[in-house]
Amino acid sequence: MSDFFIVATPIGNLGDMSERAIATLRDVDLILCEDTRVTKKLLDYYSIKTRTQSYHQHSKISKIDQIKEMVRDGKNIALVSDAGTPGISDPGGKLVQELVKEFGDEIKTIPIPGPSAVTALLSASGLPSDKFIFMGFPPHKKGRQKFFKELADQKYTVVIYESPHRILKTLDELASIIANRQIAVGRELTKKFETIYYGTADKVKNQVKEKGEFVIAISIK
Ligand code: SAM
Repeated sequence: MSDFFIVATPIGNLGDMSERAIATLRDVDLILCEDTRVTKKLLDYYSIKTRTQSYHQHSKISKIDQIKEMVRDGKNIALVSDAGTPGISDPGGKLVQELVKEFGDEIKTIPIPGPSAVTALLSASGLPSDKFIFMGFPPHKKGRQKFFKELADQKYTVVIYESPHRILKTLDELASIIANRQIAVGRELTKKFETIYYGTADKVKNQVKEKGEFVIAISIK
């Protein structure tokens, strides 16, 4: 049975790759990537020559079966996503669930921890982070209202992800549902144009530039 490494990679700044992550990606037989072209840039930067294969949200059952077969064959495999920690709002989580379901404690799943947009923002948010709730991406249409109501009712700091196309819409919705609460919005964290906005949703909405990747932390009442 193989060693199956879940390797966190940078969320923007390639310098955030850990030594252990580099060594692991060098040593394994295969790297499963959300998008092989995205991961290639990272591998080229660190001169890692390991073979890659894609595993993404549209991968079929046959792909999962093929991966299970490789695990049975004792191939050492690493899983990476486009950025950050696999499984945190990306397709890696489903694969790990499938493998643990199939192999239980026979498979050695080894996390190689590192960056994630959730923890990066929380650490600089100035909001209570001893306990927090991560709610992922708001739904686009169905369930959106319910999502924001649930978010507003939480007893701990809430963290969500949002895409550049919807950031202003989401800040608008936050402004109406949690008007006076403090939020922190991380844009392009660890990258050249990294910005963290602090204040009410209404204030932040007037400052945010639409381009980039966003993560939002929302304080309790
Ligand atoms: N697994 C990743 C992690 O651990 O952060 C998250 C994957 S999710 C598909 C991608 C989302 O994470 C983006 O749409 C954005 O909301 C957030 N994100 C990723 N990188 C970011 C960055 N550098 N700055 C702000 N948000 C980021």
